[in-house]
Amino acid sequence: MKTRISTILLSLMLMVTMSATAQHRNCGAMNHYQIMLQNDPEMAQRMAQQEIEIQQWIENRVQSKTEDEVIRIPVVVHVLYKTNIQNISDAQVYSQIEALNRDYNKLNADTVNVPSIYKNLVAKVGIEFCMAQQDPDGNWTNGITRTSTNKSTFELGSDQAKYNNTGGHDAWDATKYFNVWVVPGISESGMTGILGYAQFPGGNLATDGVVIDYHYFGTTGTATYPYDEGRTLTHETGHWLNLYHIWGDDYGSCSGSDNVSDTPNQGDENYDCPNHPQVSCSNNGDLFMNYMDYTSDICMAMFTEGQKARMLAVMNGTRASIKNSGRCLPNALSLVKTQNQIKIFPNPAAHQIQVEWLQLNTSSSIEIQLSDLSGRLLISQSLRNQSQTQLDVSRLAQGMYLITWKQGAQVHHEKVLIQH
Ligand SMILES: [Zn+2]
Repeated sequence: MKTRISTILLSLMLMVTMSATAQHRNCGAMNHYQIMLQNDPEMAQRMAQQEIEIQQWIENRVQSKTEDEVIRIPVVVHVLYKTNIQNISDAQVYSQIEALNRDYNKLNADTVNVPSIYKNLVAKVGIEFCMAQQDPDGNWTNGITRTSTNKSTFELGSDQAKYNNTGGHDAWDATKYFNVWVVPGISESGMTGILGYAQFPGGNLATDGVVIDYHYFGTTGTATYPYDEGRTLTHETGHWLNLYHIWGDDYGSCSGSDNVSDTPNQGDENYDCPNHPQVSCSNNGDLFMNYMDYTSDICMAMFTEGQKARMLAVMNGTRASIKNSGRCLPNALSLVKTQNQIKIFPNPAAHQIQVEWLQLNTSSSIEIQLSDLSGRLLISQSLRNQSQTQLDVSRLAQGMYLITWKQGAQVHHEKVLIQH
């Protein structure tokens, strides 16, 4: 029988002999959960009550047959870095948000790899993620905080990443935001090699969210094969929305359950990229292509309809306040920063950006330009005797752009993030 310890030792041996790029997936969510239960004995009772509510909500959903609403979750990414390379780019953060939106909305092309007997289980979860556009004080933000730290690894048990006074960054109000901490490394009792860990709903709000190693975050920059498709956060977000591992976390027996009705019973986790069918527990093949198994990013492709129902139940139960927090505006533009001379305001309803400036000299014209980050000019306006204008950005793709304000020798640049 395979045990938890042997799994960890195997991961460690692989790390030592084959370097971090070839290590097996190792998620710390269940160990974190066990530590939370030890520190907060009443959590078990709250989780049991939450489970009853989830099952009731799912039952009502089946009976009422109402159409599911699209749920939007505002994300704040706290980047903790010791070295410059760990201070990952905005683009890498946005690539991770795109990956979440791809996987939670069945926009991933690799669902074609799902075996035909399981194709009818593949779900479009219908949850959209956005970078938070307002911080807890109501100021416009790009949803990223950056903190220099002297720590190379952050301890899972004490949640060091989540507090200013332990080298991390305090959570933003977890009733309004999904907090994600990107860290140089994660350790547990001195051991490293954990890709990420999530906190299940129902726990301490000060530590609510996901911690993830910067090697396994996003699809560009420092993201490292075979975990460079952004699916470590897809997996951890599943835990944050109360999904358990697909094999039921019993390690080596068929008695564990993920509390999801349509996932086949599965004996153990799968690694790397196995061939279908991997039969265990007399099933028709493990659902190893599920995001809640331990396979490589390129071999995961789906949540099931049952997992979707469970996640929607949480977003309409314990986490309902997040979807109503107003920090994730639909069809929104978000402001990245404002300088003294020019101000940029999003006008989401009109798909416009409003640009205002303190005009010093009314006699010469002002040029307002919007270009992409490669310098390609997309919008250009020449204005005189005006102190504001609107830029129609409805036809621009989501992403970062540059706004340039020029008058004579004076030039100001501002980056803006456009999200539709
Ligand atoms: Zn996990």
